[in-house]
Amino acid sequence: MNKSFLLYPLLIMTFFTGCSAPKQENVQFNAYPPRPLEDYFEDAPPIQPTETKKETDVWDTSDIDISYVQKDRKLISFTFDDGPSKTMENILAVFAEYNERNPDCRATATFFLNGGVILPDDTSLLQTATLLGFELGNHTHSHFDLTSLDKETLQTEIEKTDALLEKIDGKSRHLLRPPFGRINGEVKAQLAVPVINWSIDTLDWTGNSEEKIYQSVYTARFSGAIVLMHDGYRATVNALKRLLPDLKADGYQIVSVSALAKAHGCALRNGSEYIRARKQ
Ligand SMILES: [Zn+2]
Repeated sequence: MNKSFLLYPLLIMTFFTGCSAPKQENVQFNAYPPRPLEDYFEDAPPIQPTETKKETDVWDTSDIDISYVQKDRKLISFTFDDGPSKTMENILAVFAEYNERNPDCRATATFFLNGGVILPDDTSLLQTATLLGFELGNHTHSHFDLTSLDKETLQTEIEKTDALLEKIDGKSRHLLRPPFGRINGEVKAQLAVPVINWSIDTLDWTGNSEEKIYQSVYTARFSGAIVLMHDGYRATVNALKRLLPDLKADGYQIVSVSALAKAHGCALRNGSEYIRARKQ
């Protein structure tokens, strides 16, 4: 019997009782360059697809539960890349403790996972996350820059991870977060899913402190924002412990990307890139 087998029931319990549990070390990725400044237009349209080649092909959110989303609240989406890693259980435990204390303003998030680091032992943890309302997204299998790949390798990178995730959440396709946020028109033209990048970058992968991560989100917050964080950093977990209650106190609810788009009436078009989803 492995250690994680014992922890998954505990994690489910944390949803109700609010305690946390550690997880084993796992693979981490290096070299994560920041997004170019032109991605941060203040006066851009509320939702900004950079490609609209598949106008009629819209991401299906009919099965996305938004019954817990409070209509009078501002919404912000938290995303965690590069997992599952050693801190995923800790991240889920922070959410579980917050949700136990705030059943009127439940928080969820989206994990963009790399198929190449999903271990057999991770399956139960990921299933638990899905049951708790978290969304699983595709961050490719090997974390290659998609703009550097030939068409066949690109499809393989996405399909291998979709197949692994389907065994967990039963969905054949998943929102895509391109490694390094790098995408171009040629890649988008080959995609049958929306590309989700971000409007707020915590730069947690650079070793930023808990305080820096906290401030990077809290000072830049706006309704419809998509926040980039990573699974794998203790400082990120600690910043979350403050961000969840403080954002609630400022009128926010934290939700997954698909829930944000659905609750805000934003149709995500397959093959288009999004960095936020403001209320329509
Ligand atoms: Zn990544």
